[in-house]
Amino acid sequence: MAQYNIHHTCGHEETVQIYGTNVHGERTSKAEWLESKPCRDCERKAMRDENLAGAAELEGSEKQVSWANDLRAKAIGDIKAKLAKIDTQYIAAPQDWKDAQRAACESIITAMLAEASAKTIIDHRLDLVSHYGAVAQQAAQ
Ligand SMILES: [Zn+2]
Repeated sequence: MAQYNIHHTCGHEETVQIYGTNVHGERTSKAEWLESKPCRDCERKAMRDENLAGAAELEGSEKQVSWANDLRAKAIGDIKAKLAKIDTQYIAAPQDWKDAQRAACESIITAMLAEASAKTIIDHRLDLVSHYGAVAQQAAQ
């Protein structure tokens, strides 16, 4: 076990414990790998920004807007993870079923990004996906 001072690509520094042997330079290469990326906070923030790309500006207090954007970024991340699984976990499923699943996921993401009320997102924080699934269905009619 050893402590390494990691200088991340984002400019932040982190002290991390790296476990295991270093006989073949395992810890050193882990440290180098960590130095080749942004820190966890910046990585999380970049992921959040990516999930919120094209999102409508939210109305509400600063606190509400920040919370609601966190909620929708996380929900969109979950849906994207589900989308990624359609091809890997349901290989044998019929193509039209996969297309329908993909279209449903994408329309939910679109509906979430179009939301302009922070309060609506916060009110539906426990059923965001089903709420925006219903919104998307209504919009399609
Ligand atoms: Zn950073």
